[in-house]
Parts: sequence; structure tokens; C-alpha cells
Amino acid sequence: MFAVGLTGGIGSGKSTVADLFGKHGVTLVDTDVIAHRVTAPQGLAMPAIAAEFGASYVAGDGSLDRARMRALVFSDETARKRLEAITHPLIRAETERERQQASGPYVIIVVPLLVESGNWKTRVDRVLTVDCSVETQIARVMRRNAFTREQVLAIIARQATREARLAAADDVIDNDGRPLDELALDVDQLHRTYVSLAGA
Ligand code: ADP
Repeated sequence: MFAVGLTGGIGSGKSTVADLFGKHGVTLVDTDVIAHRVTAPQGLAMPAIAAEFGASYVAGDGSLDRARMRALVFSDETARKRLEAITHPLIRAETERERQQASGPYVIIVVPLLVESGNWKTRVDRVLTVDCSVETQIARVMRRNAFTREQVLAIIARQATREARLAAADDVIDNDGRPLDELALDVDQLHRTYVSLAGA
């Protein structure tokens, strides 16, 4: 099925925009949700994670001990790569499965790290970037997550630049200082474009 990869920095408004597409009956596939699911109790990645890192990285309920793993990969780039070598292929396969099973004219695949990780751009038919200034990102995430400015800046520093995300985009939604009903109109228009491109 025709797939649009939806990306944007933290706090840019990906979830907000994805929900607006959902109102048109478009199936949403969220790679963050899938990433969480493969490391939940009985998650598809858990046997390999236990084998690679040891049982101490598995919590009592069989899920990933996220705090412990976060501490490890924060300081150990090789460990991060070993973890991603397990999780990324599973996330890609699950994403593909959901895409195949989707109903509606096309799917929106929400990929926060589309620009940063692997070859996502080649896996989707079209890239839609939700764009806003860094200052807007900071303000939103401080409010949403009760983070400090420094905490938000540290996350932003690990993500691709605004320019890199814009360079990867086929389509851009400007989500800076605009009310939701304006965003909804942009989404209406893009939806018509995607229905037509999907040939649905
Ligand atoms: P992301 O999924 O990219 O991290 P969200 O869609 O969660 O971003 O948006 C971040 C926060 O900003 C949320 O609390 C959301 O409600 C708010 N927000 C996003 N866009 C707008 C907008 N155009 N007007 C008002 N609030 C917005």
C-alpha cells in the first residue's frame, strides 16, 4: 500500500498532524509504538535481547528494563548498535506487516527518526515533514513533558537538524504559530494529493 513517512523533530507536531490524517480514515502506523511493543513483555525482541545482554536487562514481567538499558547505551555506542541490530529489523518487519494489513486509501507511517536512522526514505513513497522553529519545539516540549530547557536541547542535539529534515521532505507542513484548524486545512489538501498519488 502507498505509504507516506511522517517525520519532524520532537515537539514539531507529528502526533497532532497524524491524528488529523486519522480523521480521514487513513491507517496510522507509529514506529515508536512498534518499538515499544517489541520490547514489551513477550515482545519479539526480548529473547534476542536476553541472549545478547543477559537476563539482568529483562525486568520481572519479561519486558526490557528500560532504565538499565538506557544507562548502558547512553555511555556505550557499541551497545547501542548491538541493541539496534536486534530491534531495528523487527521494527521494520512489523511496520511492513501493518502496512500490508492496512485499510483505507494509503498509510501514514510516523517515523520520528526517518532522517537519522537507516534507509527509511527508500521504504516510503513520500516524505512529509512537520516543521517548526527550535524555539517552538523547546516551548512545546517543556510544557508537554515538564522538561527543562536544557533537557529539551539535549534531545534536539541528538536529532537531525531542521534543515536536514526539510531537505528530505517531498511535502512540508508549517506548524509554527498556526491554529489547529489551519493545520487541518493543510492536511485536507495533502490528503487529496495522497489519495490521487495512491491511485485509490
Ligand atoms: P510530536 O509528536 O512531534 O512530538 P506533538 O504533536 O505531540 O509533537 O506536539 C507537541 C505539543 O505541542 C503537544 O502538546 C501538542 O498538543 C502541541 N501542539 C502541536 N501543534 C500545535 C499547534 N499548532 N497549536 C497548539 N498546540 C500545538
